[in-house]
Amino acid sequence: MSETIFSKIIRKEIPADIVYEDDLCLAFKDVNPQAPTHVLIIPKKPIPKLAEATDEDQALLGHLLLKAREIAASLGLGDAYRIAINNGEQAGQTVFHLHLHLLAGRPFSWPPG
Ligand code: AMP
Repeated sequence: MSETIFSKIIRKEIPADIVYEDDLCLAFKDVNPQAPTHVLIIPKKPIPKLAEATDEDQALLGHLLLKAREIAASLGLGDAYRIAINNGEQAGQTVFHLHLHLLAGRPFSWPPG
């Protein structure tokens, strides 16, 4: 299975600025923020990327999105935020443990670069 730096963060072997945790997921501040607010929301289950999620992960994937909504509310982001998932190297994925980027605090262009 995929062992990444995020596995070490889940096991608390390396530090992270954690903003939310439950049995299924962990959310922490991105170490290289691309916006004034940049939080990563990850499942504790080490799914390498969205393309490798299965039907069994349906509830887990829903959980991640709903937690993103809750975390955005708890951080006072209102309704001005972006959720992004990079799937695969060519799409910009660098850590192969599924994660949602929660970005806010600046204008976002479309389409994303
Ligand atoms: P991606 O490029 O979509 O795979 O996103 C990976 C993200 O993980 C990047 O935005 C990195 O800045 C972030 N990242 C890598 N290592 C750490 C770390 N130790 N703590 C917090 N964020 C990290």
